[in-house]
Amino acid sequence: MKSNKAVDLEQQGLLLPQGIIDSIPFGVLVTDINLHLVQVNKWVTLNAKLLPEVVIDTPLGEVFPELASRNLIEAYHLVLHGGMPITLSNRIHRYFFKARSRNPDLSEMPQTATITPIYSENQLIGTITFINDVSERVNIENVLQKEVSKLGALHEIDYAVSTLDMNQCLEVIVQRTQVLFNCERVVLSLFEEGELRVASSNLNEGSNPTASTLAAWAAINSQSRLAFTAREDEAQKLEYQMAAPLIASRDCIGVLNVQTSRVDDFSQSDLELLEAIAARAAVAIQNARLHTSEREQREFAEAIREISLTMASELDLEVVLDAILKSIGRVVHFDAACILLQEEEHLSVKRYLGFDIENIPEPGKWLESYFEGSNLIQGMKDLHLPQSLFKEGQESRDSIFDIDPRFSNFAGSPIVIRGRQIGFLLLGKTETQAYPKKSLDHLAAFASAAAIALENARLYNEQQRLAVTDGLTGLTNRRRFDAEMKKEIEKVARYKRPTSLIMLDIDNFKHYNDHYGHQAGDEILKLLAHQLMQSMRDVDIVARYGGEEFALILPEVGPEAAYQVAERIRTGVEGLSHTGNHWNLQGNTGKVTISLGVAGAPCHAHSPAELIHAADSALYKAKHNGKNQTVLSDFTQENYQTSQTKSYGN
Ligand code: GH3
Ligand code: MG
Ligand code: MG
Repeated sequence: MKSNKAVDLEQQGLLLPQGIIDSIPFGVLVTDINLHLVQVNKWVTLNAKLLPEVVIDTPLGEVFPELASRNLIEAYHLVLHGGMPITLSNRIHRYFFKARSRNPDLSEMPQTATITPIYSENQLIGTITFINDVSERVNIENVLQKEVSKLGALHEIDYAVSTLDMNQCLEVIVQRTQVLFNCERVVLSLFEEGELRVASSNLNEGSNPTASTLAAWAAINSQSRLAFTAREDEAQKLEYQMAAPLIASRDCIGVLNVQTSRVDDFSQSDLELLEAIAARAAVAIQNARLHTSEREQREFAEAIREISLTMASELDLEVVLDAILKSIGRVVHFDAACILLQEEEHLSVKRYLGFDIENIPEPGKWLESYFEGSNLIQGMKDLHLPQSLFKEGQESRDSIFDIDPRFSNFAGSPIVIRGRQIGFLLLGKTETQAYPKKSLDHLAAFASAAAIALENARLYNEQQRLAVTDGLTGLTNRRRFDAEMKKEIEKVARYKRPTSLIMLDIDNFKHYNDHYGHQAGDEILKLLAHQLMQSMRDVDIVARYGGEEFALILPEVGPEAAYQVAERIRTGVEGLSHTGNHWNLQGNTGKVTISLGVAGAPCHAHSPAELIHAADSALYKAKHNGKNQTVLSDFTQENYQTSQTKSYGN
């Protein structure tokens, strides 16, 4: 149906043949000068759902009310006034009239419209509008836009993960990934000691997530994947997930996993984006790891160097033990520590720290009782390697956990010197995280340094002991005797207390040697030394003075009492030689007797030399009077009688 105007226009030869405009694959819409619709093509009627006969001759603003409400009628006025075409861009106005798009991704058909004035013999008579569906272009733009935002996101991630701090690096990856995909969960898991463990996630602290099955699959197969699965929790909600492996230098070090419960939230291109993020994240994590391990290594080496220096500069065993206990925390974290040293068959607690055993009467022994049955210690003994034990992870409960219920982890290392276990270092912590292998390696390295320090102290002590010990008899040697003598005489002067000296010599020992041999003579010296040690108090000094001569210092004993002691020794030796038990050497039954001289300070002497001289003189007298007897010095008192009446040479 044509309006009168249309007839006019047709008469002017300006109304287009309907057949032609209907075949045009975009919208054509003609108005008169008053903006009344005079002609539309099929494209317009179909897309705008109009009946042409109803709308022809109707004001444009009535047919398309939205044009008026969006001020687009103004554009027509501008065209009519200015006489120039105007294009309504899709970018600004989105569409000319609202129509369904064939593209399901777009809510409405994007359009551009060009409004052109129509002239007849230089007179403006109306307008013609061409409407284009620009879905295709918008699609391309959207794809490009996505690519651009992806690049932007990756760039942002690159920038953000350029930190060398591991925790910060993980946090940034998770946080940016979450923002980028606007998803509910982001879980980043890393392989640690062959196990996939969650290293960071956007979930709150207490939730303790585990790697999902899809994440584990992606990590094990080094492949990314998009899937929907039932959520692995009680809710069993359907969940859309993507997982991409973290691959650094060809090794899969973990997996980045995003999850949402919104249907169809992830597309193939999202998965590609996740892959790109994962690739960057892997490099960043690797860098942070290298940095951390290098720093830790440096700190560890420095700590060990310092500890070794401190410990090695000390030769006193007690000080070395203190230094070990004090330094161990610099190398491995602990809440309780213990140093155990092997003493013959017994494992002895030398130092401990951090156990709640204040009210235990003998804490060392108490601790030892728990260590005795411990599998952890037995394991170290058997394998000669550091070991750790996690409270929850043990097959049968280890006695070590009964010491203090607060501790959930123990780690230990044997202290080894030239293949010999001399003891153990033991650490406990309350934290539930098990001691990692690295800590055990560090503990073992520390134990090696400690072993050297302990061995040095032991060797030094041994050397010290040997320097003052007689090689044959194990008694105090002459050097130490001289020092002790000096100390004793000083005490006599200072505390006004007596001290006594017994000098002792084997009778006719040359004879014995000549008769039974020098080796048998040596055995006699050893047996006599043993006999002397047995008969003296701990505070007495029993020394080999030289050859077959012995000297005994009896602190705080007066000469008369010392004389009694000497007599007891002499008769003891004589008795032994008579029974022949101990002295019966390799079938030899030679009789051994001794002569003794006794002197005391301050009554006989005031200096070590005087005292030795006095006792020696008494001994000489004993020999002279017939041997096998004791003589008390008469340096200040006359007429002391010898205990025996035998005369020298009898
Ligand atoms: P007297 O009763 O007067 O003490 O006579 P004696 O033979 O014991 O004394 P003398 O001083 O003549 O000889 C001491 C001997 O002790 C000489 C030496 O063979 C012996 N002698 C000293 N030191 C050792 C030693 O370490 N081992 C052995 N087997 N004999 C020793
Ligand atoms: Mg002799
Ligand atoms: Mg002699």
